[in-house]
Amino acid sequence: MFDFFSQNIEYLKGVGPAKARTLEQEAGIRTYGDLLSYFPFRYIDRGCFVRLNQIRDDRNPVAVKGKILKVEIKGAGRGKRLSAQFGDGTGTVELTWFSGLKWIEPKIKVGTYLSIFGKPSVFNHQLQFNHPEIEILDPKAPEQSGNAGIQPLYPTTEAMKHKGLSPKALAGITLNLCKQAEGSIPEILPSAIVDRFRLPNREQAYIQVHHPASMAHAECARMRLKFEELLLLQLNILRQKLDRSKTPGFVFSTVGGNFNYFYQNNLTFELTGAQKRVIKEIRADTRTGFQMNRLVQGDVGSGKTIVALMCMLIAVDNGFQTCLMAPTEILARQHFASISKYLASMKVKAALLTGSSSKKDRTILLNLLSEGQLDILIGTHALLEDTVVFKNLGLAVIDEQHRFGVAQRAKLWHKNHTPPHVLVMTATPIPRTLGMTLYGDLDISIIDELPPNRKPVKTLHLTDKNRLQLFAFMREEIGKGRQVYVVYPLIQESENLDLKDLMDGYESISRAFPMPQYQLSIVHGKMKAEDKEYEMQRFKKGETQIMVATTVIEVGVDVPNASVIVIENSERFGLAQLHQLRGRVGRGAEQSYCILMTSDKLSKDARERVETMVATEDGFKIAEADLRLRGPGDLQGTQQSGVLALKIADIVEDGNIVQAARQTAMDILQADPGLARPEHQALAREMQKSGKENLWAKIS
Ligand code: ADP
Ligand code: MG
Repeated sequence: MFDFFSQNIEYLKGVGPAKARTLEQEAGIRTYGDLLSYFPFRYIDRGCFVRLNQIRDDRNPVAVKGKILKVEIKGAGRGKRLSAQFGDGTGTVELTWFSGLKWIEPKIKVGTYLSIFGKPSVFNHQLQFNHPEIEILDPKAPEQSGNAGIQPLYPTTEAMKHKGLSPKALAGITLNLCKQAEGSIPEILPSAIVDRFRLPNREQAYIQVHHPASMAHAECARMRLKFEELLLLQLNILRQKLDRSKTPGFVFSTVGGNFNYFYQNNLTFELTGAQKRVIKEIRADTRTGFQMNRLVQGDVGSGKTIVALMCMLIAVDNGFQTCLMAPTEILARQHFASISKYLASMKVKAALLTGSSSKKDRTILLNLLSEGQLDILIGTHALLEDTVVFKNLGLAVIDEQHRFGVAQRAKLWHKNHTPPHVLVMTATPIPRTLGMTLYGDLDISIIDELPPNRKPVKTLHLTDKNRLQLFAFMREEIGKGRQVYVVYPLIQESENLDLKDLMDGYESISRAFPMPQYQLSIVHGKMKAEDKEYEMQRFKKGETQIMVATTVIEVGVDVPNASVIVIENSERFGLAQLHQLRGRVGRGAEQSYCILMTSDKLSKDARERVETMVATEDGFKIAEADLRLRGPGDLQGTQQSGVLALKIADIVEDGNIVQAARQTAMDILQADPGLARPEHQALAREMQKSGKENLWAKIS
């Protein structure tokens, strides 16, 4: 069957072997399909002219019609250039050419009517154009001539420009392609969907995205292509989820003695409505006979640990083992300590396994585990090692999922013949539409309620000159019996420098808070695990009042009596991290404070981050600001998800289209799970192609 998309680009008019090679090397364009998907990043409406006095900035290229007022050759030798005064009645600018003078000089005569097109630059407070594109206008009717229509702008590399593939040349080539495309690009969407969303057909969309009749046509075409791309992505994600939901899983049929005993005797507070709802959702999942893959998303401090623990008790009640994996040793130890406390007077057996467990302990523990004498194993990545063998792992919980890769999640999956139920927890709020894609293959439960009596954390922004004030405030809070974190950034590349920052900070705090009146703890990544643990414990027990630390305390750490967190050099942290850090306080009943220290001079982005933190505690708002500032590329999880491989849609900007695509994909799969109907054949074929391209297929 003739497939327009797979035709070799070399034989397209205007290409040839040399350019074909450059296109492939520089832009990965080998086929007609590749070129059709090489979308313009912008359009210039050259039918739309501005007046010189309307040009406000030097960011965007503009088209202007006017007249040459004066021509001069300036400089000599290599500095030789052609300079022309150009005016349109509202103002004048200088046009300059540094090369190609022989070609340009005969065209530029005083009194010639021109349309120019280019990006203005500012020189000596004066706008000027260097090497603008020009078109000679009809002197009798300059206003009526020269309307060049809409021109697509393509990304090009230097090498492409040198080999005759300037943006303009590319536009010529895509124009040839579009002429050939007519009658060659079949529709792949069911007509009901095309009609419902009033989409242009596929062929028109590809033609109009490259050479639109108007800006509105371009917009429409882009919309259609984004929708198609996102629909295919969602179909792939949902198909996978559907396949997986057929994976047989353990049945947790009873809620038994342990769960009930715990609920009645050891639970010291009333669960929030949201916590109860999520536990119910998980219970329902684990009774279906199919494997559960569920994400629990809840802001910092929303109480995810207890939810996990209660579900783990259900697993134990049904005769299964369970594990809880945390991203840092500190957090794993903390979970072990608090869970051991929760389980006091119960027969459930829990153990801790981390990278620093001794060989002897490890051997004993692994034996007990494989014999089925341990119920709950808590630990770090160490749990993933092949030597860790369970007798019957029924439920695996991953805390702070965003710190782990998808591959690690998959590894836990395979710890059993029948895969265990998998519960992943994250405090990183992600905007809903992004979640549909990043975690689109998981079921999602949201804990959208904080435990009662939490006072909002007050967030302040201070700079170095406020330091004495800060110390006074810390003294005051410590005087009331509270504790304080002081956090320093630790960023891998400059680890030594950071450690010095931390040590200098520690010293100056020691001077301001002398012993014996004050006791300080210090924790950083270079310390031995047991030393870290010792310091954490001293702080937790209230023996020290100030904890000076790097971001090792970022996730999960829970010391309710700590009511102040001072974040040094906070301009160096990302928003998600600042939000996590702030989550370390506000866990008790006291008024808590987060103090963001920065230098006086801040970049625009850093200022926006700090202002966002001061303005809101809402994790979703913070996540949205974060995404806006950084783009999705930096979000954990995006690497594997395929969203970065999207060619035209933007997972952040196109939230509405994501939503429509997701809903449409669900409707299609519900009506026709195997995509067997005639109207879905083309989609199914296309899905296979696109599924291969992005990484979804590899993720389990
Ligand atoms: P996160 O969701 O950030 O992991 P944690 O599970 O660490 O939160 O819980 C934060 C704190 O709130 C802990 O001290 C925990 O004991 C407490 N907590 C959890 N649920 C409740 C509740 N329903 N009522 C009161 N306190 C709660
Ligand atoms: Mg937690």
